[in-house]
Amino acid sequence: VDNLRTVERALDELKRGYAVCLRDGNATLRVMAAEYAGAQPGPLRVVLSGQRANYLGLGAQAISVKIPVGDGTLLQSLLYAPCVETTIQATPASSGERMALGLIKQAGFLPAALISAPDNSAALEVSAEAAEAYLKRPVVLALDTLVRLPVAAYEDTRVATFEERGGAVHLALLIGHPENEAAPLARLHSSCFTGEILESLRCDCGSQLREAIEVMAKAGGGVLLYLNQEGRGIGLINKLRAYHLQEQGLDTVEANLALGFAEDERDFAIAAQMLRILKIGKIRLLTNNPHKVEALTQAGIAVAERVPLVVKPGEHNRDYLAAKAKKMGHRH
Ligand SMILES: [Zn+2]
Repeated sequence: VDNLRTVERALDELKRGYAVCLRDGNATLRVMAAEYAGAQPGPLRVVLSGQRANYLGLGAQAISVKIPVGDGTLLQSLLYAPCVETTIQATPASSGERMALGLIKQAGFLPAALISAPDNSAALEVSAEAAEAYLKRPVVLALDTLVRLPVAAYEDTRVATFEERGGAVHLALLIGHPENEAAPLARLHSSCFTGEILESLRCDCGSQLREAIEVMAKAGGGVLLYLNQEGRGIGLINKLRAYHLQEQGLDTVEANLALGFAEDERDFAIAAQMLRILKIGKIRLLTNNPHKVEALTQAGIAVAERVPLVVKPGEHNRDYLAAKAKKMGHRH
């Protein structure tokens, strides 16, 4: 427990832009988020994920690249550029470096860790074993509140909040009384600030959210899980970085991979846990995404039926929807 607490403190330090020391056997690495790299003293290495390495044509494993002192341009292009022209001296990342990458990603950053030799600064020290145990632990959710929340589409609605220990808050919208139905309509919806609040036309999240609530209201019941996993789990800032790459010709899947993420970083086991806490074990899933059906089934929720959710494509999201259909197997 003490070890896990040290990892949580290390993640806090990383989120604030500070370095931490990662002890792996006899080696100690000074680690910080590469995107926070300012004027760093001494020789540096940057560790990139397997996805980013693969995208740059440098093999499919996490790699470690030496950055000459003061070469900010090389570092920036290794992190963000659609391609890197210079010849790069990359070596496979060590186990400590891979663990450093895991911590940086867990802290919500672009998966790129800046590594230097430990200096005299009083950086928090964490062991690689503790970091590994933390990154592998199952996420545990707790139900915080369940309260009436009449919504425009359906008055008899409640909202429940769930909190990951020290982490994200997820919501469940209970339209009518789905817990009393044999197999209520259910929808897993991942938060999308740009699509829902700003009505961005780059995706279809806003219309999907409203349509799902509408369909459940018409059916007289359903449960909508609103998961705090923006941009298929990469976060708002990284999603906007992916948009930037899409303006340079990449599609939605390629852009996530180019940034070093998996094409989908979401954890649908969280949704299964929420349903179990709500005492809903069997559902009719409103989705076009067969992976959600698989993930929920694997996590122990019975999916009696897949109900397609149809939203009309527009001029700006046509390519996005086509990429989801072609590369992620979405269908109607
Ligand atoms: Zn969206």
